[in-house]
Amino acid sequence: MSKGNFPIDKFQKIQTPFYYYDMELLDKTLTTVKEETAKYGFTEHYAIKANANPTLLKHIASYGFGADCVSGGEVKAALEAGFDPAKIVFAGVGKADWEIETALDGGIFCFNVESVPEAEIINAIAGAKGKKACVEIRVNPNVDAHTHAKITTGLSENKFGINLSQLPMVIGKIESLENLELIGLHFHIGSQITDMHVFEALCTKVNEIVEELASAGRTFSNLNFGGGLGIDYQDPDKHSIPQFKEYFKVFNDNVKRSANVKLHFELGRAIVAQCGTLISKVLYIKEGEVKKFAILDAGFTELIRPAMYDAYHSIENITSNDAEDVYDVVGPICESSDVFAKERKLNKAKRGDLFALRSAGAYGEVMASQYNLRTLPKAYFSNNQNSI
Ligand SMILES: *Cc1c(COP(=O)(O)O)cnc(C)c1O
Repeated sequence: MSKGNFPIDKFQKIQTPFYYYDMELLDKTLTTVKEETAKYGFTEHYAIKANANPTLLKHIASYGFGADCVSGGEVKAALEAGFDPAKIVFAGVGKADWEIETALDGGIFCFNVESVPEAEIINAIAGAKGKKACVEIRVNPNVDAHTHAKITTGLSENKFGINLSQLPMVIGKIESLENLELIGLHFHIGSQITDMHVFEALCTKVNEIVEELASAGRTFSNLNFGGGLGIDYQDPDKHSIPQFKEYFKVFNDNVKRSANVKLHFELGRAIVAQCGTLISKVLYIKEGEVKKFAILDAGFTELIRPAMYDAYHSIENITSNDAEDVYDVVGPICESSDVFAKERKLNKAKRGDLFALRSAGAYGEVMASQYNLRTLPKAYFSNNQNSI
């Protein structure tokens, strides 16, 4: 069993739990994405909500990625990290007035608009500032992402986007608002999608929508396909780089488009998940009546994905090579949902052992909370070992 690439001696001297980022792997990931999108002339935006650690944001911005934001705070963070405002997009069903103002003042590329009332407010705020706001309509294409219900966004029952039956009406409405310029359509159907057929189905659906609108005389110069590419949580070492090649090829091969149409993508998880690990210490081994519990000093306050989405994370005992035993791996939070894994085979554990919770770079640190008045976890980076 792999023990990963961890400086364990250094880890033993610092306060757990903490996040550790493998910057070499992040570099490899970013380089791969840039190579694949360059092949087809696609534009890539990093979805900031996956991980907004300022060091990571600066690093990703330095590769020339655009940013996908879902709040005013994220727009500010993107601007501070050095993302080019001309490549920042802003989505979300509930943009507050101050968030719209922040984005307009920052000179972002466009708003992904999710309702008519929102379009009207953006129009009014832009007008008051003497500006014109570029917008794309977020369309709900009713394509099933075949992923966990809590991360499915592209079905008619979801709160996101404009339903197809209402799309022509909404286009007409937005075109009548004088401070808005409608430049494209946006789609984002869900997250942790590993079946390329789902993205093929999205392409087919988008072709239909675009063709129908074109026959009514309406064409768009930007198509944004959102994010959602999944990663291998079961075996992060085997598939440390997600299926970017296959993913971008699906869109190149399947989206019917004229030469002036730009394709945009907003990947989050696939960019940062595999480079991040949550390192935690075993506090106690508790032998129950029917189970053995490994009680860690990290809980869902540091990594909420197992509690919130029933997510699987590969876990390794990185300080033991002893024969395997079976554990429920749990945290210290006073909630019965504070469980990282059930019946997991791990090298025999004792108090003080370090556990690595792998593939935790996306929707990990950024979702940390202070529930139970806990301290937010620190982050360390492989390219700055002196700080460890
Ligand atoms: C969350 C989100 C993304 C990124 O999703 P991933 O699954 O992390 O790639 C992209 N676009 C929008 C609008 C989102 O809300």
